Amino acid sequence: MTKEERRIPTPEEKRQLRKQWPVCYICETSFDGYDDSEIQYDHIYAYAKGYPQELSNFAPMHASPHPGKLNCHKDKGTKAPIEYKEEFRIKKLLTKVQGLGDLCPKARPVHFEYDVHLMEGTLDGEKVRLYKQEIEGKPIYYFFHDIPSMWIESDDEIQLRPLDTRITGLILHLKHNLQLLPSLARLETASGKIKVFDGQHKAVAQLIGNKAERLPFIVFIDPDVSHLRNTVLEAHTKFVQQRYQPSHVDKKLYDVYRARIEDFQGGNESKPFTERDILFPDSKDRQRQFLEATIIEGLKEKTEMANELLARTVREQRSKQPFLYSSLKRFVRRFARLEPVDVPTGHPDNHREGELENLAFILEEIRKETIHGRWNPKDPESEGHKLARTYYYDHTVRIWLEVLDESIPFALSMLAGKKLEGPVCYRSKFSFEQEARIRSIIERLFKHGLWLNPENRPVLSSSFDLDIRNLFAKHGLDYVHCSKV
Ligand SMILES: [Zn+2]
Repeated sequence: MTKEERRIPTPEEKRQLRKQWPVCYICETSFDGYDDSEIQYDHIYAYAKGYPQELSNFAPMHASPHPGKLNCHKDKGTKAPIEYKEEFRIKKLLTKVQGLGDLCPKARPVHFEYDVHLMEGTLDGEKVRLYKQEIEGKPIYYFFHDIPSMWIESDDEIQLRPLDTRITGLILHLKHNLQLLPSLARLETASGKIKVFDGQHKAVAQLIGNKAERLPFIVFIDPDVSHLRNTVLEAHTKFVQQRYQPSHVDKKLYDVYRARIEDFQGGNESKPFTERDILFPDSKDRQRQFLEATIIEGLKEKTEMANELLARTVREQRSKQPFLYSSLKRFVRRFARLEPVDVPTGHPDNHREGELENLAFILEEIRKETIHGRWNPKDPESEGHKLARTYYYDHTVRIWLEVLDESIPFALSMLAGKKLEGPVCYRSKFSFEQEARIRSIIERLFKHGLWLNPENRPVLSSSFDLDIRNLFAKHGLDYVHCSKV
């Protein structure tokens, strides 16, 4: 497809659009007091994502440069107006909503009858199937149902938390994704009221984002309130499951990415694809996460540093593996390209394979200099092990990665006689000459006298980057030192 010019509506077309959209497309307030120069006409669906340039895909919006006047066009940032309009609507609504109570202030009482022999009930005529849990010999009955929003209210006796700020994200998420679990409520048969005591965020998200009229619930019938309050509290504190570790999240991201590629290839594994083909629906952040996770997965197969020597947690690091997962991520962010590549796989200008080789090469050289013959968790008091520990203090790793990130591009630029563009490793596999330069940088970095002086260790183990940076500077450990030939 040849790239067509970005269309700009003519004055006549603008008049037409203003007739069609008498108010701002985004905020739906008037243009009174805004002259032509303070109004922008933009694609409702992003032209950059391949939507057409027809006039019907244009709408006017506030775009005043004057402080105190509206600039909806600027506020939307890089989002498509259609997306931002919805976000704007949600945020505006949320200013008036502190909790489910604001959306469902008073439940309309329902008529409920149930039969514990048939294990059935009716809720204003709607049939529900009953389930039971025995607690210390006493049965508690409950049912699953899609409950109309006017039948529910917030349970002020149990509800633990006010809405938190992440609600906007959840609202947008649930517009495109399944709600995996229902909210929880109790039915007070005496008053006929259904009171929501857990999962109000999801409920609010469905009501605001998806304008849902019914919400999925598990409803307990007349449970003991004080007992339940305790249970809910403990569920949110003592029994909160361990959050996913970053390494688990990355593995999942990688799996999703692989599955998408397979879908795209439709069974033909050799079918070329570009990363844009696979990643275009995602936000920039998400694209970076997918690419980062994929690179890490590749490094796991190629290097000990990303495998046997990789610690998932600080505690694990102290006892067995030196290289923290967070440090590996930092390394990848500095040296790899985390923007999608437009060139298809298999094309000589697609450097993902070279990149992986190059990243692995650097990690392997770092391993040889810092770990090999030193790291020995079985003899933690040995000098070698102590030195290796020093190299891998969390914040110290950050600083030597900075030094490498300055030294390597500098040396490679000198070698090439011109400035190196783009991420250091995203290029063809390093030549022998380039490898030799990088090896020498890594040697000079870790053989520096700074490391051997035990008096420096307290600073190196500090959690203030600045202290460590100053120590490096004081001892002249920088890119000039490292890239000397
Ligand atoms: Zn506006």
